[in-house]
Amino acid sequence: MDDIITMAERPREFICIVCPVGCPLKVDGDGDNIVVTGNACPRGDAYGRQEFLRPTRVVTSSVSVLGADSPLVSVKTKGDIDKARIPAALAEIRALTVRAPVGIGQIIAPDLAGTGVPLVATSAAARV
Ligand code: SF4
Repeated sequence: MDDIITMAERPREFICIVCPVGCPLKVDGDGDNIVVTGNACPRGDAYGRQEFLRPTRVVTSSVSVLGADSPLVSVKTKGDIDKARIPAALAEIRALTVRAPVGIGQIIAPDLAGTGVPLVATSAAARV
């Protein structure tokens, strides 16, 4: 599992994705003593700490829709979820089917995979 951080993996290196510059970050330490280097601004420091301690992602996918002009609607999580929860989130998304009509922003699952984060539609599907 790449989410388990061992001493052998430290320090860890990331590319900051907060802006297009893409600074190469190196993060090391533990507890209250995390050190981020390579960042050109404070946003990279925050990003590096988060990636090191508790990586999260927005998940995008699609969900089957019944009775619509399209078989799928695109969806995304309304916020970041723990990276370790992504397989459970994708399994839940694969099992979902919704009925048309679906509107953009409509909540498809209020608490995706127990993360507390809703799954919302990012495309619409009209009823046929
Ligand atoms: S550290 Fe700052 S400048 Fe560098 S990529 Fe991240 S946000 Fe952009």
